[in-house]
Amino acid sequence: MASETRSAEILESLQEIRSRVQLATTSGTPTLVAVSKYKPASDIQACFGAGQLDFGENYVQELEDKAKVLPAEIRWHFIGTLQSNKAKVLAAIPNLYSIQTLTSTKAATALNKALPEDRTTPLNILIQINTSGEDSKSGLHPLDSETPNADAELTQLARHIVTTCPRLRLQGLMTIGALEQSLNAGAGDLNADFECLKRTRDALASVLSAEFGGEAKARWGEEGTGRLLMSMGMSSDFEAALKAGSDIVRVGTGIFGARAKKQ
Ligand SMILES: *Cc1c(COP(=O)(O)O)cnc(C)c1O
Repeated sequence: MASETRSAEILESLQEIRSRVQLATTSGTPTLVAVSKYKPASDIQACFGAGQLDFGENYVQELEDKAKVLPAEIRWHFIGTLQSNKAKVLAAIPNLYSIQTLTSTKAATALNKALPEDRTTPLNILIQINTSGEDSKSGLHPLDSETPNADAELTQLARHIVTTCPRLRLQGLMTIGALEQSLNAGAGDLNADFECLKRTRDALASVLSAEFGGEAKARWGEEGTGRLLMSMGMSSDFEAALKAGSDIVRVGTGIFGARAKKQ
């Protein structure tokens, strides 16, 4: 249990972030993922008590440990570096809701194979895109909307998920983006990373529709609408991301406060 002071602190930050999300939202109801890496289970429990269901974690072991002791109603989003050899551990977490950092067919195949047959819903998958081109960021190359390339790595991975991974659902795309983009952007400036993810999303959607179309369309995107979702925006830039049309924002520091450095 978090202390009363700590709970009150978390709830206040959560309320503030929620209202800022609401104010910045241009359409629909975006998902706020509370990023809880390095934070104790008691912090998550306090948030959960306030109706927060979506939490994001970066480390497989940490996620596994927390999922065991926290409520089964929680929807866990894995947002850390994904290694194919961790697919089994991740797939065994019954309330794992999404993996936002997929970048390889190998990992997709491993996940699809490892997911238990009795799982009632497919695991949501977002493909990570390196929109800033920085070496330090993982992710596949964006697509150019002028000439969407049917052989691009991203298109191939999307096709692989849609055609050969029935236990996965390609829900959309995710980017981290460059920090400078948010620091240097003035009010009204467009964030180049967010615009890039949007172009890539639109290009991928048209490639998929052209290739499959018809009823196959039900196999990707948001349940019901088939829209490919975008996960972009963190504590420092979630408002800009929402203005650019983000569907999923991932906020850690803004809710839980600064993180200790990993030893
Ligand atoms: C840690 C992390 C976040 C949250 O970052 P904050 O700046 O603390 O909001 C979001 N997305 C990813 C991929 C992360 O690793």
